[in-house]
Parts: sequence; C-alpha cells; structure tokens
Amino acid sequence: MTPGPSRGFFTKSCSGLAAHSADWGGTRADSSHCSDRGHAIAMTSSSQRLANVPCPQLFEATSCWLTRLALSQGADLAELLRFLKIPGNTDVDRALLGPHLGDVKRVCGLPSSAFQVQERLMHSLNSISPIGDKFLLTDRLRRPKFRYCPVCIKSMRVPHFPIHWRFGAWRWCPEHDCLLESNCRSCGRPIIFPTDIFSSKAGMQGCLLINHCLGCGARLSGEKPCYLQIGNLRRVSWYEEMVLANGRALLSALYHGYFFTSATGIEDLNGLKRIETYGLLPSGEHWMSVENVRNRIIPDSAETRVRWRSKPDY
Ligand SMILES: [Zn+2]
Ligand SMILES: [Zn+2]
Repeated sequence: MTPGPSRGFFTKSCSGLAAHSADWGGTRADSSHCSDRGHAIAMTSSSQRLANVPCPQLFEATSCWLTRLALSQGADLAELLRFLKIPGNTDVDRALLGPHLGDVKRVCGLPSSAFQVQERLMHSLNSISPIGDKFLLTDRLRRPKFRYCPVCIKSMRVPHFPIHWRFGAWRWCPEHDCLLESNCRSCGRPIIFPTDIFSSKAGMQGCLLINHCLGCGARLSGEKPCYLQIGNLRRVSWYEEMVLANGRALLSALYHGYFFTSATGIEDLNGLKRIETYGLLPSGEHWMSVENVRNRIIPDSAETRVRWRSKPDY
C-alpha cells in the first residue's frame, strides 16, 4: 500500500506538532500550578467556562488532554469526567465525538477546530467498524493505551501524547527512525490515559509530569531509542520496512478517507480489510517490538546482509 497524494500529512515531525498549537483563551497546562487538589472545578463567573484550561496540541489525544485538564483544575479525574458527562468506563478517544465533544469545547472555551485531527480519524474508524475497531491499542480494561517516541517526547514544548501513538500500526517514528516504546523501560508500566496523575504512584511522590512514567517517575525521554540504523547496518528486513511504512500510510488513509495502491489505484477505506488480511500492516501488538529488535542478531556476512535487505521475488 502506498498513501494517496496527500501522503506526508502525518510525516510532519511528531515533535513539531506543538509548534502548531495556539493559545486558545486558556493558560497553558503547567502542573506546577496545580497544588489545590480537591477544590471544586473552577469556572470563570462571567462565561461559565472553565479557567486555566490547557491548550490541546494539534494531534493530541483527548484522553491525554483530559489527564492534563484534571491536573490543571486540581480535580480528580473521576470528578472531571462526571462534570463533563463522560462515562468513566469508555474509550474516551473513540467516544468523545460530535455534539458531546462540542459541549466539552464550549465549557472549556476551546475553538471548534480543537481535536479535529482525532475526530476525523475516529469517524473514519467508525465508518469501517468492525474492521477499524482493532486498530487502536487498549489495555485489558479497554482503556486507551499509547506507545511513544523518547526523542519526540524530549523535544515537545508541551509534552503530550498524539493520537497516532495509539494506533497499533504506527510502530515507527519516521522523524527519528526509531521504533516506538511500548512501556516504561524502568518499571514496565504501560502508558494509559486518561489517568489520575495525583493518585498515581509517581504523583503521590510529587512527580506530576506527563512525560514521566506514572509508575516509577522515570523520564520517558531518558530512554535510549531503538534506532533502526546502526552504523551501516539496517536492523530490519526489506519486508519489515515496507510493513512499517504501510503502518504510517494507514494514518494518512484514515485521515483522508482513501488510499492508493499501485495495483488497484485509489480505494475507499473498506479496502483496508484486504490490506490487513494480506499481512501488509503491522499486526499484533508484539510484532516488531523494541525488545524483539534490540535482541536481534544482525546477519554478519555480506551475502546474508544483501538477502536480508533485498526485495524478494514474488
Ligand atoms: Zn520521534
Ligand atoms: Zn516506570
């Protein structure tokens, strides 16, 4: 699969996403302001809007932003979700769409354009349900689960988790040519949002930063990335490289509502089922995991290297 003419939308630097953010009438998220834990959610008296609302970043997932919002309000997450009429036992990235999301934006004083990337992706997933239902990572309790690029996290002006880090197929960071991490490398904790940072293990120890592990408090940006290029060696085969690139193209297809293959031309999103059936998308949560690739023994003879990197004859 190759992406359509608009390929490249998601090829913009993950780390550059914050550069698109605007200060939408609220104060930027800053956990250092949030010491009034337990206070009622504050609203400005004139407009009945929440005050001190963190600015959503262009690609930020709502589940991540709600985590930052609870922090900015000094409220516990359950209280915030009740206030915004969001069921606590739902995949919020998938469910918070349309009029309900519009209500949340109004209460928070956000422009209608906020979260438009996520809305578009989720509408695409809904349009091809049940095919699209398994594209998003969740934990055992069906809560939103994320991977992350340690280099992107480090370079973000406002640390956040973009929605494409929730897609199982988005396995590789094209900006930094590394695989995404699945868990905190220090304690193995997965990245789950929305999370009540205050009551997390790290939060109770005083670490309220979203770019830190909420289990052990380790900096997520402090981990050495699993780069695919080591010297003049490539750690992935030709086939794996193609599947990784298709995972990136999947996001472009979902955003634009179509994709392109050299064999069939332009197709609508229902064609993704065939692409997945052919094994042309990253499949299974553990395929090409960082642990797998780090422990990989790279072929050490010139002949095997050539075979490893050559396009097979189909
Ligand atoms: Zn990156
Ligand atoms: Zn940890």
